[in-house]
Amino acid sequence: MDQQWRLWQSQACWRGLCGTAAALVICQPAMASRLQLWRLNPSTNQLEIRTERGVQPRAELVYNPTRLVIDLPGVVLGSPQVNQNFNGPIRQVRVAQFDPQTTRIVVEYAAGFTIDPQQVRFRGVAANNWLVQLPPPQQQGATPPPPAPPPPTTPTRTTGPLQVRHWQADATGFRVMTDRPLPEGSYTLRRPRRNRIEISLNNSELIRNFNPRRLELQRFGRDRVRAEIRNQGRQVLISLAVNPQDGDWQVTPREDGFVITPTTTAISPPSPPPTATSRPSGIPAASAQTPLTTIQRVDLGGRELLIQGDRTVFYSVGWEGNTYRIRLRQAQLGNIREPRLVPGSPLSNLEIRQDDNQTVSILLTPAPNFRILGPRALTAESFVVQLQGAGEPPPGSSTPIRVPPTPTTQVPSQPVPRGRFVVVIDPGHGGRDPGAVGIGGIREKDIVLDMSLQVAQFLQQQGVQVIMTRTTDIDLELAPRVSIAERARANAFVSIHANAISMARPDVNGLETYYAPGKSSRLAAAIQNSILSSLNIRDRGVRAARFYVIRNTSMDAALVETGFVTGAEDAANFQNPAWRTQMAQAIARGILNFLQGR
Ligand SMILES: [Zn+2]
Repeated sequence: MDQQWRLWQSQACWRGLCGTAAALVICQPAMASRLQLWRLNPSTNQLEIRTERGVQPRAELVYNPTRLVIDLPGVVLGSPQVNQNFNGPIRQVRVAQFDPQTTRIVVEYAAGFTIDPQQVRFRGVAANNWLVQLPPPQQQGATPPPPAPPPPTTPTRTTGPLQVRHWQADATGFRVMTDRPLPEGSYTLRRPRRNRIEISLNNSELIRNFNPRRLELQRFGRDRVRAEIRNQGRQVLISLAVNPQDGDWQVTPREDGFVITPTTTAISPPSPPPTATSRPSGIPAASAQTPLTTIQRVDLGGRELLIQGDRTVFYSVGWEGNTYRIRLRQAQLGNIREPRLVPGSPLSNLEIRQDDNQTVSILLTPAPNFRILGPRALTAESFVVQLQGAGEPPPGSSTPIRVPPTPTTQVPSQPVPRGRFVVVIDPGHGGRDPGAVGIGGIREKDIVLDMSLQVAQFLQQQGVQVIMTRTTDIDLELAPRVSIAERARANAFVSIHANAISMARPDVNGLETYYAPGKSSRLAAAIQNSILSSLNIRDRGVRAARFYVIRNTSMDAALVETGFVTGAEDAANFQNPAWRTQMAQAIARGILNFLQGR
């Protein structure tokens, strides 16, 4: 038995595999087997695993910091968690019982190091003895400078006040750069009022010519957050003016400072126990004690089903036959009144149930002539599932997707007859799946959502009905993306992604647009041509590939890889909001050209 195991591709969007939802078939031994041995040789990058009986390991790469997570289904550890520390690119190996049937091994890399998941090899010496060959660690040295990096005024010091050098807003929050890593316990985060967050950094100061002192963030256009930074005594004080309905914010240290983000975009819940279809979570084994969210309200009002919990709700959606399933993880049912379905209701059936002690499912069957358009987050604690009747305008027109105010630039193209065309825009990845992660920690799921929301707005301004598969940072499988397009009877489906190759290849940059083999390439060509005519980006061609979402949609479909997050040129462009807006306009113009038969 000398098999090579491909790493799970669920977390990353590596070239050629984007969109594949690879799942390994797991043979679960009937009786638990023990972990007999594990050892890591950091000089050869080889991890050996030996179990009592045969096992089929599963692996996943998780980022920030980079961790290779290996699950051994059907294996018990028989001892408390073991941590082993190393001095080198591999920082620590943790072995713990993830759930009663699974032992989890986490290989964590030191800050600034990562590995190419394509090169992780599992070699079965015997069914119960595996050698995991880890590729040589790569240093993520090529972090791009921030848009307007101030020259460092002082060399890195290890004593004296922490120097805050620069800060910037990005798609998800604020990033603050300091002269050295944040010492442990050196900050406090408070929410003195619902609309104010204050972060104070002990023993710290702003550099002399710190600029700017104020920032404004438009989080996917949903709400505006103003932030201010100043010296106060021997502390630096950062204050955010936030929406009172917003959930909490958090500080996450990075090697060169820290980021301030809403907890909704930064926390993933622990995984449900592994089943044949679930993915292992990146959360280390010992942290499974997230408090449960109590579902307090499930209400049907007009064309929206509201779901509300007492704290952050973690959810995923999908179709199972004719039933739309909303799965709420880390959740328990409160004392709720089920909505009554009256004649004329958009749902013909609704069932709310507690599946197990931490999963609640809501099953919906749309009434004839109604369709389910998908979820939309309201706050961290609540979301709605939108419904639409035949002939009704999509909810986009009554509750428009709120995107940043239109810049002065306009899409110079002919509008189409209002309401004649329906286009589905599909921002790739989301939720626990960040897509590709590239230079500077850019996450595909964030930048493609930002661009997709803008594409939608430009198209709507030109009279196109737009339906989005997601408008927020949610988990969404591939099948429901296709279902949304089919149910909308869309004229065109456009999936928006960003590409990645190894971090060791910053020289690889450029644009690719895909169509499914055997289907028309006209939409893909229209998008590629439009982008090339308005942006300075390398042309990597219009190509055929069997990506799930374009292969399984019946209408014209294209998948655009808007550049490489691992490419030096493209990553710098992705960091620039004006460039993302130009990209969005160019994609929209390409779609309009296609719709107009040009
Ligand atoms: Zn992707």
